[in-house]
Amino acid sequence: MNIKIFDTLRHIIQDVNNAPDFEQALNIIVQRTRDVMQVDAVSVYFLDDKTKKLVLMATDGLNPKAIGKIRFNLDQGLVGLVFKQAESVNIKDAHAHPNYCFVTETDEISFHGFLGVPIIQHRNVLGVLVVRQTRQRRFSANDETFLITLAAQLAGAISHAEIRGELTHFLEDDEGHSFNMKGLSGSPGIAIGEAVVVYPPASLEAVPDNIISADEVDDQINLFTEAVENVDSEFKELSKKMQGVISSEELALFDVFSLMLKSDSLIDSIIKRIKAGQWAQAALRETIGEHVKQFDEMDDAYFRERAIDIKDLGRRILMHLQLQTTALHEVSGPVVLVGEEITVSQFSEVPLENLVAIISSKGSASSHVAILSRALGIASVVGIDNLPVNHIKGQQIVVDGYNGQIYVKPSVVILDEFRRLISEEKLLDDELNELIDKPSETLDGVHIPLYANTGLLQDISPSLKCGAEGVGLYRTEVPFLIRDGFPGEDEQTEIYKQVLQSFSPRPVTFRTLDIGGDKALPYFPIVEDNPFLGWRGIRIMLDHPEIFLTQIRAILKANIYENNLRLMLPMISDISEVDMALELINKAHKDLNDEGIDTAYPLIGLMIEVPSAVYQMDALAKRVDFFSVGSNDLTQYLLAVDRNNKQVAGLYNSMHPSVLMSIQQVVKVAHKHNKPVSVCGEMAGDPVSALALVGMGIDSLSMSSGSVLKVKWTIRSFTQQQTKELIDKALTLENVSDIRLLFEKSLDAAGLGSLVRAGK
Ligand code: PEP
Ligand code: MG
Repeated sequence: MNIKIFDTLRHIIQDVNNAPDFEQALNIIVQRTRDVMQVDAVSVYFLDDKTKKLVLMATDGLNPKAIGKIRFNLDQGLVGLVFKQAESVNIKDAHAHPNYCFVTETDEISFHGFLGVPIIQHRNVLGVLVVRQTRQRRFSANDETFLITLAAQLAGAISHAEIRGELTHFLEDDEGHSFNMKGLSGSPGIAIGEAVVVYPPASLEAVPDNIISADEVDDQINLFTEAVENVDSEFKELSKKMQGVISSEELALFDVFSLMLKSDSLIDSIIKRIKAGQWAQAALRETIGEHVKQFDEMDDAYFRERAIDIKDLGRRILMHLQLQTTALHEVSGPVVLVGEEITVSQFSEVPLENLVAIISSKGSASSHVAILSRALGIASVVGIDNLPVNHIKGQQIVVDGYNGQIYVKPSVVILDEFRRLISEEKLLDDELNELIDKPSETLDGVHIPLYANTGLLQDISPSLKCGAEGVGLYRTEVPFLIRDGFPGEDEQTEIYKQVLQSFSPRPVTFRTLDIGGDKALPYFPIVEDNPFLGWRGIRIMLDHPEIFLTQIRAILKANIYENNLRLMLPMISDISEVDMALELINKAHKDLNDEGIDTAYPLIGLMIEVPSAVYQMDALAKRVDFFSVGSNDLTQYLLAVDRNNKQVAGLYNSMHPSVLMSIQQVVKVAHKHNKPVSVCGEMAGDPVSALALVGMGIDSLSMSSGSVLKVKWTIRSFTQQQTKELIDKALTLENVSDIRLLFEKSLDAAGLGSLVRAGK
């Protein structure tokens, strides 16, 4: 495709993305395409999933009255042919084609030339984009490429959350507004509640419109100017800090930022929008969007780069605006927290006792929002493609965390069905609660201690209540994530002491700070192209020994009282990292003792979560006391599947034979050295995979407190011999789905089917 066409395409897509609503986005598509391709009609058809019809959604050239009315069967006409074949159809004279079907409403009689291309996303055909010509015309290869490229781009753009939300409404208007959507199961369970929407901090795109009254205008303007001043002083401070660190040329960029920030065109336009009745955040979003678009469209690469700076500027101002206006949501009944992404700090935007479920458009089963919801024992559905966040605000939602499904404004029948399931769940819970004081032993008496994964202080009480024998993974980054800056040694000591004392005499395994990857601290930003392969976990700690030493000192000091600490290092990929970390731990220990603070030297373990560590188990086992498999990361690195990327979520599976074989290898080598192995990734808390781990001879399991009793029930229902036979059989299977099915069937046969689906 030549550059000019490519540019035209890019501009169409940009305009579509900036369109205020679905209808306008579609209109832009049909009008611009008609113009560019010099055709007589352009139309877009979408699949209505419910009625299984292709509905005319927009047109330029056909009779507009037909919009929403023309509904083709999936195999009807040329449009149906494009849909069915999932391939483009290019016909010089449509009338002569056997599939041609005459439709009165569109006055199609006058069209001969036909080119239709499918709109495909994630292998699914969403609809068909068609151009028509009155005269006979065979479209050129270039025309076809243009339309195919546009359709591919459209699939992404049109399925953008906002627009798709409106699509759902558009298609279902006649039949009422209730609709359901599919995502991924983040945490099992069923809940019904009212949707409270939270927005990711500093995400301009996520800011909703909010019309203000005349007497709020001054307040909003003041908030805005205050935020601008704060950002300006931030720049000044940063620039001072960076003097001597970066070149004077780079330093000059801060002045450019300051100038941009104070530029009249930016400020005036935002204030104008506020005066017109928009709140400051949306006024900022609009103006920044406008500026970005202008810069983006410039030919000069230098100016296009400035678009990124403007966006950054916008985010910084927004961050300050949000800091000023963060307020607790007022809620009374059960709440379903809804957002594109839900961060730890957003959990606290509603009172915890009201929170019954979480749903998000981003994330996957092993992302931190899923882990946190499991820790809190509440249902969650994540990675809901095209979740119309703004449209479901305040609506009643049923969340089915087992099947990764949500029901918005559910009908009475659906509600009744889920209420029944909730009461059955409650019965199951009551039965499980009877196991709290029973040992976690196989039928042939092998004890497999079950530990809890924690991080939030709120989590201590459920972890204790569920009968966990200690903490197998205390994620120390969580207290760091919910603060505004690095907590000091004394503050950390206090937090750690509270955790150690709460569980004493049970052991607590502290994992040293594991930030980076998807766990960025708001006050320690890391920008990388490949964060999961970048600066994370132990790598950051070894590069910042001052942060690491402070944490180790705080942990050792907190242990003085109860002496129930174990220490664990994350993200080990190389022996040298272990040696360096041990040296620093020795130093912290020695320094404290030299200062007269008598601290015990704890047992030290490593997380096995990077494939390279699996192959160096012999060398690692000589250096430390225990191991814990971080199956979340191990799966992501072994399968080369980003654990948070929902595009590839279908490929992410800890029951993959290669993951199972790796863990088996870890257990084998560790046991050769008489070192115990635990698993603290999410697979430990899933009864299906826990069964496989027991078969491999794992020594203990650590999981969200909500899973402890379910896994205990599983362990108490099998002999170790049975689990060994199962894993041996599983490892002869080649497909992950067959492996999972094998374990699910065994659970079902043992009467534990309710652990893998909703209800009793
Ligand atoms: C893991 O990777 O399995 C793990 C337990 O660590 P996290 O999920 O915190 O990265
Ligand atoms: Mg990990």
